[in-house]
This record gives sequence, C-alpha cells and structure tokens, in this order.
Amino acid sequence: PQPEPCNIVIFGASGDLTKRKLLPALARMHHWNLIAPNSRITGIVRNHEWDIDHWRSYVHDALQQFRPDCLSDTAAWQSISDMLALTVGDLSDAQTYTRLQETLISADGKTNVLFYLAIPPEWYERVASNLNAAGLLNESSGFRRIVIEKPFGSDLASARELNRTLREHMKERQIYRIDHYLGKEGVQNLMVFRFANTVFEPLWNRNYIDHVQISVSESLGVEYRAGYYEKAGALIDMIQSHLIQVMTLVAMESPVSLDGDAVRDEKVKVLKAVRPIPADRVSEFAVRAQYAGGTVEGKRIPAYRDEPGVDPDSTIETFAAIKLYIDNWRWQDVPFLLRTGKRLPNRVSEIAIRFKRPPMNLFSESSSQLPQNELIFRLHPDEGMVYLLNAKLPGLNDQLRELALDAPYAVAGADSPEAYETLLHDALLGQNALFSRADEVEESWRIVTPVMDAWKQKQSIRFYEAGSWDIPEIETMMQGCVGCWRDLSEHHQHGYSK
Ligand code: NAP
Repeated sequence: PQPEPCNIVIFGASGDLTKRKLLPALARMHHWNLIAPNSRITGIVRNHEWDIDHWRSYVHDALQQFRPDCLSDTAAWQSISDMLALTVGDLSDAQTYTRLQETLISADGKTNVLFYLAIPPEWYERVASNLNAAGLLNESSGFRRIVIEKPFGSDLASARELNRTLREHMKERQIYRIDHYLGKEGVQNLMVFRFANTVFEPLWNRNYIDHVQISVSESLGVEYRAGYYEKAGALIDMIQSHLIQVMTLVAMESPVSLDGDAVRDEKVKVLKAVRPIPADRVSEFAVRAQYAGGTVEGKRIPAYRDEPGVDPDSTIETFAAIKLYIDNWRWQDVPFLLRTGKRLPNRVSEIAIRFKRPPMNLFSESSSQLPQNELIFRLHPDEGMVYLLNAKLPGLNDQLRELALDAPYAVAGADSPEAYETLLHDALLGQNALFSRADEVEESWRIVTPVMDAWKQKQSIRFYEAGSWDIPEIETMMQGCVGCWRDLSEHHQHGYSK
C-alpha cells in the first residue's frame, strides 16, 4: 500500500548512511509509487555552504553511484528533485528546529513527519529533546515518528538511559529502532515459513531439533569504521543486535497477530527466557578471536592491528561466537550457536536448524550413525532454503548419499526490495513489527553483558589467520551437539545445486 503523504526529514543528510542506504532506498520506493505525491524529503546539514542546489546535486550523485537505474527516467528524477528541501543548521541550535518547522508541508489536512536520525548516536537524546522543545513531536496535526539507528546504547545501563530519555520526549510507539537485518527478505520469510506451513511446526522443538546455528561470515574487514569498531567489536556490532534478533524469530511462539506489539511480545518472551551466562564460566559459552594477516579472496590482508585507526595492541574481537540456551518448554537444553566474524574466507549468512539423528542406523555399515537432517535458510548469497536429507545412492549398492532439496527463494524476474526499502516503507505505514522495542533492546544487552564484562577484563586475545576458519577453541562450543560447525566454504555452498 502507498503510505500517506509525509515529510521525511533526514538528520545527517551529508553522512555515509544517507548516501549509501537512505537515498537509494527512497529513490526505489519512489519508483514503486510507495512515496505519496505531496511528500517531501528534507535534509538537515550543518555546513552553511550547502543550498538546495547543492543538496539536489548531492542526491543525484548518490543515486548515480548507488542506484543509477532510478535516474534512467528523467521525469522520475525530476519528481524526486521536486520533493527535496534543505535545512541548514547545527543539531545543538534551537534555530535549526524552528527553520525545519517552516519547511514542513501538509497534505490532505495532515502534517505527517518521519524523522530519520542518521547521526552519531551521542546526539539521539539531544535531538529528541530539541524536537520536543520545538513542538515537533506533537501529533495533533499528523503522525510524528522517529527512526534511530543502532547502536542503541553501549551497554545495558546506557541503553536503559537512552530509552528512558527518549520516552521523556515521545511515546514508545513513535520510536522506530531500526535493525536492517529484520528487513531482509530471507529473515521475514522465516516467519512465513514457520507460521504459514503445517509441516515443520510439529518438529520445531527440543524433541526433534538438536541445535541451531546462526552464522554471519564476512570477507570484508572494518573498512573505514575502525573508530567505531574499536569500541564495539563483533559481539556488540553483530551478535547483540542482528544475530540475537534473528534468533528470536527462529525461537518465538506464534504471535496472536502480525500487529507490532503482538510480534514483539513473543520476541521478548524468548529473550527473557535466555539463560544468563555465568560470569565465571564465560569461556564455555563464548569464544572470541582477532584476525592476523592472511589472504582473503586471493588478496593479501594486513592484520587487524595493522589497519588504519586500530590500536596496535587492540584486544577487540573481529570474530565472536556465543552459545545460548532458552529456558522454556519448547527449547530447554537446545543450544543456539551464534557466530560472526570479519576477514573470513567468504561472505555467507545463514540459519541452520540441525535435527537429531535417527535413533538407529539400519543402512550404512561403514558408520554407526546416520548423518543428521538439516534445514538451512540461506540469507546470503542467493537467498533460499535447503533441506538436507539422507537418500539411497542410485544403483546396485546399499550406500547412502546426502540429498539436498534446494529451493531458491527469489522468483525469476521479481525485484526484491532492499532491507532499508522494506523498513522505511513500514515506518511510513506505521507498522513497527520489524523494529525493536525498548524491552527487546534491553534484554539483548542483558544477555551479552557477562561476556562483555569477561572480555573487557581479559587483556589478551587469540588470533586467526585472515581468510581462514581456524578459530582457536571454536570446536569446544560444539560439545554436546550433533556434528560440527557447518562448513560455510563456497565449495560447500555451491555443492547443493549440483
Ligand atoms: P557519518 O557518516 O559520520 O554521518 C554523520 C552525519 O551526522 C553527518 O551528516 C554529519 O554532518 C552529521 N552531524 C554530526 N554532528 C552534527 C551536528 N552537530 N550538527 C549537524 N549535523 C551533524 O555517520 P553514518 O555512518 O552515516 O552513521 C549515522 C548513524 O547510523 C550512526 O548512528 C551510525 O551508528 C548508524 N549506522 C550507520 C551504518 C552505516 O552503514 N553507515 C550502519 C549502521 C548504523 P557533517 O557531514 O557535517 O559532519
């Protein structure tokens, strides 16, 4: 559906996120008619040399670079260009908000506004307070929503404080905490897969599932974000937010409806049931490492400590894995293994549900146990689902082989939306199921706190060679699980479709 006309106000219009993600997403939404006529896209910048023409050419350049298809039609560009407005001013200056007020337009008797805070997180509270002081969060003339980007705090205490301050200025339902992982088609498909089919749900529990592996492997390093990464590391950058969010969708009960709070109530129940990691046994539940020099995709890569902007003695992890248990009837004692890292051999994201082994082996004499079944949701590359089963090898033999039922997710010719397109569209429609609620954020900080604390105290870190999967001590996490960590190498991935 097409949302109501809206003023889309981007704080941090000159920043990286706006250029790479927001402007391309807005252009595609415009292409699909998902931005109502009489809407406005207002950028806020502090550089006084900017005027509206500069902003227009900046947007044009960003689209040229990241979404050239949206520029092929000159009429389409003209209509985007006509929507653009600019406010120049510092975030700390009350005048900026007064000037912003003047750019807002009304349509159909309403002045709807979506504020997007694409600014450093230390500004969230100040900007929320300034918006409130200027009366810009008052909903008497239309909706007022505010999108904020992770990180939502840097630990449990700061996340609580951020939530508390934001709620001094607005209602929880006005806050859209974005986690772009939840906008991915493959992640959303998980809910449909689970709750629109009958065949898997009876198996979706501790009686049949041995464990779950959620993996996000990146071949890239920290790129230009060393400053941020040095404070975050893989645990906070990826696990505390994206991977734990994905875990909730795998583990949650069916919500009573798709209403934002109904879905988030179920996700929070999962988070609340996550067993606390004992402070004195962190090493049994979490592993970290940092990449040393090596070769990734044929290119020589320096060690993390030698990257620009990184402390040469840094003990920040570029790889983290964590083992969680959900103490409820469905999942008691089923490990959820979450792992992520940078400078690994290739870029792969997937969720693997590993089933228990058959109780006995009638078929294969060479091994005492049959390979386990596995259901894999591949998020990257090429989204899809794979079901690994045992089958007979054709011919006069009694050998078994692995049979992969491989279902690519994409439909030929369909143009899947990018995560930011899905999420911006939802925010404009007021659908908040895919955005994190305050209690979800706080619970996921609670879950990682013992690991953060233990790692902070430890002044040393182990290393893995860039481009390899040789992570020290990683296998110890598989104790008690059927099989080993899934092989995410390219060869294995592509093997399915043979
Ligand atoms: P960035 O490139 O550093 O951009 C920050 C923006 O904020 C710039 O436009 C900057 O303006 C503006 N700004 C800073 N202080 C200001 C002030 N006092 N008054 C007016 N404007 C001010 O950061 P980013 O990478 O786009 O990230 C933005 C937010 O998104 C951050 O919270 C980040 O954690 C989050 N995020 C980003 C990504 C990503 O891929 N980039 C991914 C996930 C989350 P100037 O140009 O004038 O400095």
